[in-house]
Amino acid sequence: MTTAPSRPAARTPSRPKVVFFDIDGTLIDTGGSGARAFSMAGKTAFGIADGTADLVFAGATDFALVDQFLECHGFERSPENRSHFLDTYVFWLDHFLQQQDNTPFDGACDILHVLHATEGVSTMGLITGNTRLGAEIKLRHYGLWDYFSVGGFGCDHHDRNSIARIACDRLGRGTRAELFLIGDTLRDLEAAQAIGARFIGYASGKISTDEFRHHGADIAIESFDDFPLEWFV
Ligand SMILES: [Mg+2]
Repeated sequence: MTTAPSRPAARTPSRPKVVFFDIDGTLIDTGGSGARAFSMAGKTAFGIADGTADLVFAGATDFALVDQFLECHGFERSPENRSHFLDTYVFWLDHFLQQQDNTPFDGACDILHVLHATEGVSTMGLITGNTRLGAEIKLRHYGLWDYFSVGGFGCDHHDRNSIARIACDRLGRGTRAELFLIGDTLRDLEAAQAIGARFIGYASGKISTDEFRHHGADIAIESFDDFPLEWFV
């Protein structure tokens, strides 16, 4: 009796992979340009000097920061006031970025380049508290903007988890992608959990690798040298 040759195991086609990045503290450090631009927007658009000194920027969305400023100083939290603040902010952001020559974090450019060229990665996107224009101004300054084709931004919602869901909606209906998110704060981790994404915690200074692991990060790294590229091939 002969034994029938065994069939090769059926291969399950892998799902397309979508990789989302946070911006500040993950890809770049603007050297305080963002915070200075917020401060100057408060002064020049609303006449309040040092009006943003008490705001906590890490992990916060631009909408939430503007609302805090407006409420704190007795202005109505209206769409007009938000727009007035943010239109002024991006002017100052561009101004302060032009005055410094920081580079992206070591290895960030290489990782974006490799992921972009990786066949299994269908889309690279942003989940950020920056407004879309603020994100574009920052990332163009560092030469990173063109890697990204989709995103959820701080002008979409004041809550980062909702921003993450909006970014997913923009992938298109019916997309059953495997999602990944890279960020430097626990708010990024919560956003990853909100959309069912695997989370890579980048410990650039705010949160330690131990804290990321304690809160459920799939992996925590201190350097892009340790980025788990094997997940994406
Ligand atoms: Mg960040």
